[in-house]
Amino acid sequence: MKSRLSIALFFLVFSTGLLCAFALISQQFLSVSLTEMQDKRLLELAAYLRTEIELDHGRPVLRLDEEPAAGMRGATIQIFDQHEILRFEYGHLSPRSLQTGFSDYNISGQSVRVTSISVKDHLWLQLAIPNDEKLRALVAYGNMLRLFLPVALILVCLSSFYFSGFVLGPIERSLQELRGFLVDVGHELRTPITIALSNVQAMQMDLIENRIEPQRLEAAERAILRMNRLVEDLFLLARSENATVTFRVETLDFAALSRSIINQHEEAFSAKRIALTFSGAQALVKCDAEAIARVIENLLENALRYTPDGGSVGVTVEQKGNTVLLGISDTGIGIPKELQSKVFERFFRVEESRDRHSGGAGLGLSIVKSIVELNGGRVWLESDIGKGSKFYVEIPAAA
Ligand code: ADP
Repeated sequence: MKSRLSIALFFLVFSTGLLCAFALISQQFLSVSLTEMQDKRLLELAAYLRTEIELDHGRPVLRLDEEPAAGMRGATIQIFDQHEILRFEYGHLSPRSLQTGFSDYNISGQSVRVTSISVKDHLWLQLAIPNDEKLRALVAYGNMLRLFLPVALILVCLSSFYFSGFVLGPIERSLQELRGFLVDVGHELRTPITIALSNVQAMQMDLIENRIEPQRLEAAERAILRMNRLVEDLFLLARSENATVTFRVETLDFAALSRSIINQHEEAFSAKRIALTFSGAQALVKCDAEAIARVIENLLENALRYTPDGGSVGVTVEQKGNTVLLGISDTGIGIPKELQSKVFERFFRVEESRDRHSGGAGLGLSIVKSIVELNGGRVWLESDIGKGSKFYVEIPAAA
């Protein structure tokens, strides 16, 4: 709210300056244009009148026997001789002397525009027209601006307040997400730090009391390994979510890679008496081997973690048209329908306390999703509570 008000205020100040500058410049521009129109009218009138001048016994007169031309209405006409002595005059707003060029002149409080041209017999024709119309137009324009400016400023203020919501909304959401993320990271680190610290302190006491309790060392090591894993996951997540970071893309056989990862995990599966099967033929993809191996590892480790002893896990790799599909199914605890879309969010766990105890930080699937999407693929799952889950990863096949 505060930021929105600041933006609105900034726009108000900025637009006030801009609109005032616009008002001044446009008023100036209007004044120059009106003056040019007046000067043009004066010149047209002079061109017409110069042909109407006659000499009557050496005295210049104007043949104005008919109705004066439209442009002459309100105009003052003077004829000066070569000695600048006034010899003829028509109208009442007349400067007393001969003016050269175009100029504004004040006669009895009334402003006129004046010009003179040289005509036949060394005479000068001087014309003056009132500035009333021009001044009226300028005053009307000024009044219009005085009405328009406050309305425009109120509109700018309201619209900037309204639109700043659009701009700031996503930024505020990102900041909120970042704050939540930092809180989650803090939570995740707090437990292993406490475990490592308390065990190290206990070991110090053991040293003093000349005791050796290896389980303390093991507990501290486990806590440090957990922190190490979390930090690695965070780095990988940051890397895979940053589109500017390039992965090392190479053509590899997805089936062979899956097979070798399964081999590395066979022991852990047999320790839980979980039957692990694999089926798949060569399927080439263009990926970063390390990153995509992490995808398979994470899904396989989840299957191991969330499948009770004696269950089974199956991995399949098949090429379907232009894509390669990896499926990892388990007969594990399953994920409730309403939470299935959330498991790919950072730090999300279906059962907070149990999953935390089992060692996962809730980052594995978000890393899977980021890496797969970065490689132009998608990931989804099917799961039935109590029956098991199947995770699918689809990535484009190498052309
Ligand atoms: P974690 O490191 O906690 O396993 P993940 O992001 O990999 O984090 O998974 C998020 C959550 O999704 C897990 O905490 C777990 O509750 C659930 N989950 C993931 N894989 C499975 C699975 N195969 N079976 C049941 N639940 C799963």
